[in-house]
Amino acid sequence: MEEIVVATRNSGKIREFYSLLYPIFSRIISLGELGCSVEIVEDGSSFSENALKKARIVAEVVKKPTIADDSGLEVFALNGRPGIFSARYAGENAGDRENIEKLLRELKGITDRRARFVCSLALVFPDGEEVVAEGVCEGIILDKPRGDGGFGYDPVFLLPEVDKTMAELSLEEKNLFSHRARALRALIMYLNGRKKARL
Ligand code: IMP
Repeated sequence: MEEIVVATRNSGKIREFYSLLYPIFSRIISLGELGCSVEIVEDGSSFSENALKKARIVAEVVKKPTIADDSGLEVFALNGRPGIFSARYAGENAGDRENIEKLLRELKGITDRRARFVCSLALVFPDGEEVVAEGVCEGIILDKPRGDGGFGYDPVFLLPEVDKTMAELSLEEKNLFSHRARALRALIMYLNGRKKARL
């Protein structure tokens, strides 16, 4: 496939998508480049419902293959919260710092710090073909932030296998472990199989 539209305005996600997709697609197009300003209400009840909704709406408008992600943090001791509400955990206009502060307040005194990042990726083609893939990355929530890379909850999400937070990893290192990279690898495997099936 030659070109793909990335249906997100989150600058952290855009950076990761560019580094993940460049080896595969010859042109990656952002919503900004297309001058596409559709507003999408994320009212689905799961990551995959939201990702599909975003990709479908944008693909319909731009008439090009479109990839969208819905992702978030699930904390075991909080019964999976913040989950699909990760971006607005501390309120509709909350930033990453406020969301992390709320999370750490809620986990104060709790010793079970297990958590996972989940990413659902939806790829929608103009002819209506749709593919959804999911990736998961398991870790531990620290009691204070470490590192200044990444975005979102990265500074408090420790990867025990490398003893670093996601925010202490380079983009290339994060791509080895992240939920987004894992979902994308699953999606690419599907696309490769589909190409062979059409030969
Ligand atoms: P949405 O998919 O745009 O609804 O928002 C996802 C939210 O989940 C982000 O705003 C972050 O708070 C969190 N999140 C998703 N992926 C990551 C990641 O790779 N690192 C840190 N936080 C993430």
